[in-house]
Amino acid sequence: MIIVLKKEATDEDVTEVKSKIEEMGLRTHISKGAEYTVIGALGDESKLQEGKLRAMRIVEKVIPIMKPYKLVSREFQEENSIIDVCGVKVGGKNIVIIAGPCSVESRDQLLETAREVKKAGAHMLRGGAFKPRTSPYSFQGMEEEGLKLLSEAKKETGLPIVTEVMDTAQVELVAKYADVLQVGARNMQNFPLLKKLGKIDKTILLKRGLTATLDEFLMSAEYILAGGNKKVILCERGIRTFCTYTRNTLDLNIVPAIKKLTHLPIIVDPSHGTGRYDLVIPMSGASIAAGADGLSIEVHRNPEEAISDGDQTLTPKNFKKVVACVQRIAEAVGRCL
Ligand code: PEP
Ligand code: MN
Repeated sequence: MIIVLKKEATDEDVTEVKSKIEEMGLRTHISKGAEYTVIGALGDESKLQEGKLRAMRIVEKVIPIMKPYKLVSREFQEENSIIDVCGVKVGGKNIVIIAGPCSVESRDQLLETAREVKKAGAHMLRGGAFKPRTSPYSFQGMEEEGLKLLSEAKKETGLPIVTEVMDTAQVELVAKYADVLQVGARNMQNFPLLKKLGKIDKTILLKRGLTATLDEFLMSAEYILAGGNKKVILCERGIRTFCTYTRNTLDLNIVPAIKKLTHLPIIVDPSHGTGRYDLVIPMSGASIAAGADGLSIEVHRNPEEAISDGDQTLTPKNFKKVVACVQRIAEAVGRCL
């Protein structure tokens, strides 16, 4: 349930309505906009006596939410959330590009790739130090050593770091080095992890699960916001379908749908979405045309030698082509790079 207060509501009015909701046994979440104050009532809605709230003079309207998510909804917050990552703003007019290798493999590999993506115009550096691999016999990541290399790359290039966290036990360690903690597709419904990420003061990049519906995706984001952390960036990375030509099917439908339903930014990962480097450039352009706020792209100084995901990874030269393509399409849709 969302309770919108009248424009003239004072701080005392807000406290009074908040107390009334809490007396009914629900939790509250207050959002003060430029004109209206909005209170989200969270918990068991059956306990909410809607009539009593409607009767309060200072209440403009009470909006029952049929959708299962609340805090992430456009009804709760009309204006776009703009998330600031070390000065890089995600969700505003500017398109944000995150680029880097699938995995951190060595100091040289990471630093060289970081320099190349920075030179080509990337805004953040990605690289996995903890890798969610299908086979237990595949490379599992450099762990803390990899995180230290990411830090070194940030120091040299100034690019904020995006890296994956797979487990509640890793949160503290990863948060020590990362600017953005990535929740991978396979962990989109790792609820203890989402709850823990709701309690930290870091941006979370939440990737869509392999078979997640739009509602399930948004409910996972809701977990993080319900814990108190509003800094969530969504990421479409392709879903499983019958099509086997590509690794996944990049569901660009979800981009304008997410923009309509939520205030959170959404970026697209065409690398995992296609699994093929030759499709990454056109699908990057298509993502921006569909309204995405940015991209996450795998780039390696030499994709043929990449330990993971080489077949979907761009050379620095091809990454420059992505940036040029995105620049033109961004201008065409009233955005900038
Ligand atoms: C990744 O970004 O390297 C990754 C493993 O992504 P996903 O969780 O989308 O498969
Ligand atoms: Mn990868």
